[in-house]
Amino acid sequence: MKHYTGLIERYRGRLPVSASTPVIALGEGNTPLIELKNLSRLLHFDARILVKFEGLNPTGSFKDRGMTMAVTKAVEAGSKAIICASTGNTSASAAAYAARAGITSFVLIPEGKIAFGKLSQAMMHGAVVIQIRGNFDDGMRLVQEVARDVPVTIVNSINPYRLQGQKTAAFEIIEELGDAPDFHALPVGNAGNITAHWIGYSEAAALATATAPDNMSFSDKRVFSSKRPMMLGYQASGSAPFMRGEMVTHPETVATAIRIGHPMSWTQAWKVREESSGWFGERSDEEILQVQKLLARHEGVFCEPASATSVAGVLRDLEEGRIPSGSTIVCTLTGHGLKDPDTAIAQSSRPVSVDATRQAIESVILSNMD
Ligand SMILES: *Cc1c(COP(=O)(O)O)cnc(C)c1O
Repeated sequence: MKHYTGLIERYRGRLPVSASTPVIALGEGNTPLIELKNLSRLLHFDARILVKFEGLNPTGSFKDRGMTMAVTKAVEAGSKAIICASTGNTSASAAAYAARAGITSFVLIPEGKIAFGKLSQAMMHGAVVIQIRGNFDDGMRLVQEVARDVPVTIVNSINPYRLQGQKTAAFEIIEELGDAPDFHALPVGNAGNITAHWIGYSEAAALATATAPDNMSFSDKRVFSSKRPMMLGYQASGSAPFMRGEMVTHPETVATAIRIGHPMSWTQAWKVREESSGWFGERSDEEILQVQKLLARHEGVFCEPASATSVAGVLRDLEEGRIPSGSTIVCTLTGHGLKDPDTAIAQSSRPVSVDATRQAIESVILSNMD
């Protein structure tokens, strides 16, 4: 078994890198696919739901898949600085990969609207953190304007290398399952990730028809599939431009990672929906938090609020029969729950406080056993 260094090495043949490309990697990708066995029993659904836990990437979100590619290509092109607008996770990831590459990162975040874990990461990795009195959409516009005048590389998902890195999640799923699932559900913000997954699934399916298996290289062989999944994109109700059919001016949701009213990959995501015969859906903040808690309490999987939107969407669509029973469904859990400790603590019961005696501890234990 070769030492795993990251997704660029693993999928080198399917990514735009050459032998001389200086790879900037932190061991990203290779995340677990976990079947929701307890929730299946508890909620009596007749389908196989698996979560791809992207919270286990180096900085705790799927953004690392795209960032390893974007920063690698920026360094290859001689760039000395990168810039992004972020609801949090992109800034954490950009800061870490810039630190690894020895270049400067500038991150624009909406003041007061970023989860604390994410802010701490950007600060610790030495990014120049610029808080703007505006939202993500303002930040995104400003980044594009500034990058026209100043020599900085944009590492938001409008950078095409981001999507190239992120498409590898689809390859990993196909390798694990032996084929593509029937459905793939994701939370949708800027819609880069749903677009990237579709690129990955489409490449894997094209490979199956284009090349006879005997002629495939080893790495190609691992990522071919007989079909493509139907793609499901879920949004928070207060921030759901794809449900409204137009941009949203003042997006609001507890799921700050998807608090985006002007998705950059608007056109691409509609194309994904059409080509995959999938659909968009929305869930309220209350439903999203409820499912975040279900996953933590009954499956041992702690994701951030935005991530739970994919599972919340699928559970409802299963219940309503929109997703047929017997389906195999993969839900992306985009980020780790530790990113947003405030929201987690706010919805949990408080710890009990007792005197430091054996008797006090035993009485708590007895009153919690039945
Ligand atoms: C970035 C992000 C999303 C949204 O992904 P898009 O590619 O912008 O649609 C969802 N969840 C988390 C945790 C994120 O960090």
